[in-house]
Amino acid sequence: MRDPSAIGQVADTEQVTGVIRGDEVVADLENVVKDYPGPPQVRALDHASLRISQGELAAIVGPSGSGKTTLLQIMGTLDRPSSGRVEIAGYDVQSLSDRELSALRAQQIGFVFQQFFLLERESALENVANGLIYRGTNTDERRELAVHALERVGLSDRLHHRAAQLSGGERQRVAVARALVGRPAIVLADEPTGNLDTRRANEIIELLEHLNRDNVTIVVITHSQELADRLPRLIRIRDGRIVEDSGRPSSATRQPRDRP
Ligand code: ADP
Ligand code: MG
Repeated sequence: MRDPSAIGQVADTEQVTGVIRGDEVVADLENVVKDYPGPPQVRALDHASLRISQGELAAIVGPSGSGKTTLLQIMGTLDRPSSGRVEIAGYDVQSLSDRELSALRAQQIGFVFQQFFLLERESALENVANGLIYRGTNTDERRELAVHALERVGLSDRLHHRAAQLSGGERQRVAVARALVGRPAIVLADEPTGNLDTRRANEIIELLEHLNRDNVTIVVITHSQELADRLPRLIRIRDGRIVEDSGRPSSATRQPRDRP
């Protein structure tokens, strides 16, 4: 477990070279319960356990209201569980203050949402660079990193277009670049294809696959079974419970560690 007092002090260079390496567990949820106080009270997560390791690309599927967004928000430290243990990038969320949790979120987690949430009048470049403001990165460096992130999502020819001038697919690429720009330990995407037609939705999933081959750890909620089926790991949730988890593909073949 990491020392919470270290969160605010993590140097940028350490971020860039990657705090999380190899087989490290990025998100570890154990017996997580989430109740929304009513009335009537709703149990959105019912003893959910899940472990995401560095380098994974996992899909979460399940009917509307099954707890997918709640699960992602708890993984993203946007919300705290009612009970159960949550560890993100090695930090026990329960032991962190709200302020420390914000720092952890800013440094280690990238979010992509169905509604993009871009500043419409700002350029693609500004939207992505803004993703670094809470990291304390200076203006020149923010710009440089934003250009690089936009290149990674295939938008180097749209840097100075305002968000309002971009198509839906392009906007979501900008949002993915914004999620990536701080080199987070994990990218969490909640129905990123929900507002796109089939072709653009496919392109976004292809982009996530491409980034994952570059070692970005991604958890993506999708309504589309077809999209989920092609991803390496499928987690199915129903009534707040994880009812199916295809697991980490490589774990089946991995050798136990302490064999002679
Ligand atoms: P999904 O993303 O799978 O559609 P959610 O996680 O959004 O599911 O919701 C799970 C359950 O929790 C639903 O019954 C929903 O109505 C309820 N819920 C979600 N957010 C809140 C909230 N802020 N307050 C009360 N109930 C909520
Ligand atoms: Mg949802």
